[in-house]
Amino acid sequence: MRYRSTRSEEKISAPQALLQGLAKDGGLYVPEMLPAPFIEYNSLRDLSYKELASFVLKRFLTDIPENDLKKLTDAAYTGTFDAKEIVPVKRMTDAFSVAEMFYGRTCAFKDLALSLFPYLLVWAKAQENDGKQILILTATSGDTGKAALEGFRDIPDINIMVFYPSDGVSPLQKDQMQKQSGNNVRVAGIDGNFDDAQSALKRIFMSGLREEASEKGVLFSSANSINIGRLLPQIIYYVWIWLQLRKNHSIGENERFNVVVPTGNFGNILAGWMAKEIGVPLGQLICASNENKVLTDFFETGVYDINREFYLTESPSMDILISSNFERFLYYVLGSADKVAAAMKALNKEGRYAVSEEELADALGEITGGWASSEDMKRAIKAVYESYDYLMDPHTAVAYAVYHRLRCEGKIERHSHTVIISTAHPYKFPGIVAEILGLDETGTPYDVLRRIEKKTGIPIPFQLGDLEMKEKRFIDIIGKDDVADAVSEYMDDIMNIRMRNE
Ligand SMILES: *Cc1c(COP(=O)(O)O)cnc(C)c1O
Repeated sequence: MRYRSTRSEEKISAPQALLQGLAKDGGLYVPEMLPAPFIEYNSLRDLSYKELASFVLKRFLTDIPENDLKKLTDAAYTGTFDAKEIVPVKRMTDAFSVAEMFYGRTCAFKDLALSLFPYLLVWAKAQENDGKQILILTATSGDTGKAALEGFRDIPDINIMVFYPSDGVSPLQKDQMQKQSGNNVRVAGIDGNFDDAQSALKRIFMSGLREEASEKGVLFSSANSINIGRLLPQIIYYVWIWLQLRKNHSIGENERFNVVVPTGNFGNILAGWMAKEIGVPLGQLICASNENKVLTDFFETGVYDINREFYLTESPSMDILISSNFERFLYYVLGSADKVAAAMKALNKEGRYAVSEEELADALGEITGGWASSEDMKRAIKAVYESYDYLMDPHTAVAYAVYHRLRCEGKIERHSHTVIISTAHPYKFPGIVAEILGLDETGTPYDVLRRIEKKTGIPIPFQLGDLEMKEKRFIDIIGKDDVADAVSEYMDDIMNIRMRNE
């Protein structure tokens, strides 16, 4: 299968799409044609997660021989998750379940894609066979950086450098990055916010440094969710969720189920939509936002408008105004790269674009939106803990709050079953969880976690608990104008180490 840009007729192979990340015209790569529905219960019900992974991906990555793909998915999902099902689906009532995606190495759902993505990239690199070193450059507001560092740690011929806003991540997230192990990793805090980090990297991608690096034998690439290699692995778990619901009789043979997805960059819910296209019987797909509700407003009005206040919330991974992957959905809805290019140009210039009434109706036929305030979110954590003895993280709670409201308003189909996508372990956000449980919030994040553990009986995941005693390795904070120099320096180190080894 070939991949095409959302903004022009540019088409390339899967390995090239994986290596380049972003199309030259600024667009994102999408499968040239989505496979016809091929998901079928009886032949899939007994597969393990990794077997299912290769079964689904072989339709999208047709260039990888099936046996090789099996080895990749096997390596990606062996020993990397703390739950044998990889994504356990917990049935709460007849009406809803929670799909828990936080058993990976960083306790957030990004581990599901970032455990496999490095293997796909290594495969792509082998196809190109150019002997280059890859340098992954990533800006993070918290979760992506750590998940990418863990995914790429100690993989030969690939190096990774992560930049985070030194004051914009939680203390626990900062520890996760500063204490990162691995011989091919580097991390720096920047004296600026997430946008400064992201813009600095974008400038590097478009600067002479990229060319210079290429001549020296280093290829720049990205681990952000614009890469198709981040998106495809996310389709797998929607198939998995369906199989679990069928097996535990939450839904019957001809029944559909709904999902509510806490959304930031629109990658997760887009993968759900693609799963529906390949045959997973999804009913309503609901995109849940926090106060940064650009998407909810779009689904209400057909206008995407980022000229608005930006809120820092307790669900920081959803604090995004430019949802990159929405461009892919728009491409499928509008059915025209020219129209997408025009919309993106308007977004860039005026910070807004609008679609027609008909186009909006088409979009709403696929996905709808809703949002929850910080108060709604907190009430949801408290209510679900009290009613079901179940603790949610703030992102998951935004999704639950949206679900609860829509259900009360009669906007969820009666007698249908709904799955709340749980994107992070509640212990990644000890401060807010302690506040809601009425516990003392003082001390280190680990002190707070111990208090929560004592009260709830939920054990602290080792991925978080082990951090306390680890040494800080990367404490550098650099100016936002020094990012290119830092990249340059690391590039030279990479080449020196390589020469020494040869
Ligand atoms: C990244 C992230 C999200 C948002 O996912 P998108 O695919 O960007 O929509 C939601 N919750 C958590 C915990 C995340 O890390």
